[in-house]
Amino acid sequence: MTITFADLTTMRVGGPIGRLYVPETTPEAVELLRQATAAGDPLLVMGGGSNLVVGDVGWDGTVVRMATSEFGIDGELLTVAAGVEWDNVVKAAVEAGLSGLEALSGIPGLVGGTPVQNVGAFGTVTSDVLDSLTVYDRQTGRVERWTPDRCGFGSHRQSVFKHSDRWVVVEVTYRLRRSGQSRPIEYAELAKRLGIEVGGTASPADVREAVLVLRRSRAMVLDPEDHDTWSVGSFFINPVLAEVPESARECPRYPDVKGTKLPAAWLIERAGFSRGYGLEWGDGTVALSSRHALAVTNRGGATTSEVMKFAAHIRAGVEARFGIRLGPECDLVNCSF
Ligand SMILES: Cc1cc2nc3c(=O)[nH]c(=O)nc-3n(C[C@H](O)[C@H](O)[C@H](O)COP(=O)(O)OP(=O)(O)OC[C@H]3O[C@@H](n4cnc5c(N)ncnc54)[C@H](O)[C@@H]3O)c2cc1C
Repeated sequence: MTITFADLTTMRVGGPIGRLYVPETTPEAVELLRQATAAGDPLLVMGGGSNLVVGDVGWDGTVVRMATSEFGIDGELLTVAAGVEWDNVVKAAVEAGLSGLEALSGIPGLVGGTPVQNVGAFGTVTSDVLDSLTVYDRQTGRVERWTPDRCGFGSHRQSVFKHSDRWVVVEVTYRLRRSGQSRPIEYAELAKRLGIEVGGTASPADVREAVLVLRRSRAMVLDPEDHDTWSVGSFFINPVLAEVPESARECPRYPDVKGTKLPAAWLIERAGFSRGYGLEWGDGTVALSSRHALAVTNRGGATTSEVMKFAAHIRAGVEARFGIRLGPECDLVNCSF
């Protein structure tokens, strides 16, 4: 039976995979990566497929899907292999009395993906809690231990790993705190749900619970029965602009090292695309989530080309209204819009 990206990604679109390898230990993963690189075969590394959209043509090469599982706690350091499911790490940290990851509860995908786009939610980003990581460098063939300053974090959702196939993350160490109190909660909606002031703290277990409730209300926790979650989360990235055009003067804005960050969801909704938009559009296979304007969703039976056509339609509407061109937050492979 041919395995396709539709089988292995959360958007559930994408064509066939040439050769699929699923390494279960870190040494096995490194050896596979070494062999595939030496063979000169096109190589795509993936985790949970929750931030990845691949074209209907698929990938005529090797795919390494990380399934490594090493996991260890040493004091306040949590070291985990790239193939471990992210939310299991958050749960284990909370249960072990370690504080720091709780706001990142419920995010799909695997550990190796977290530094790639400096995954974040509710005011915490991966780089806040990252101690170090181990990468396999496909150019030199070396396995190296990196501190966060080498990772190119800074601007929203950026890192040196994004859009580069040179480095594969094989292991990540998070620096947490042995504490009954969470990191300060800076996100107003979460603070309200916890009944605390912005900047206050709560127990990591309570924060995890509250985050999961809020995420479920936005269809941001995977549920195979719920098409609003057949997505890559935020499909479009919040644009960072050197100058905000007059047309977007009412848009909320946030500082970013590269300029001013605008919420793409605000731009999309104000350009006339409400949540759920598209249910009657095209063939009805693709629509914005009915609970989150940034999530492009597969309503069942969508193809990648339908997703791309839909994304281009949304982008054109936002550009016509505000003169701002949205780009993808997810990784697009063998497809574009
Ligand atoms: C419902 C939903 C909600 C989401 N909510 C959030 C959110 O709140 N915040 C947020 O930041 N993201 C969110 N996301 C996006 C996604 O979950 C994260 O980006 C996640 O970290 C991706 O991990 P993954 O293992 O699925 O990566 P994949 O989708 O498999 O891969 C994504 C990219 O990373 C690369 N990659 C994967 N593993 C490695 C590795 N070990 N080494 C090098 N490169 C690698 C791949 O080649 C690809 O380019 C959401 C997605 C969904 C579907």
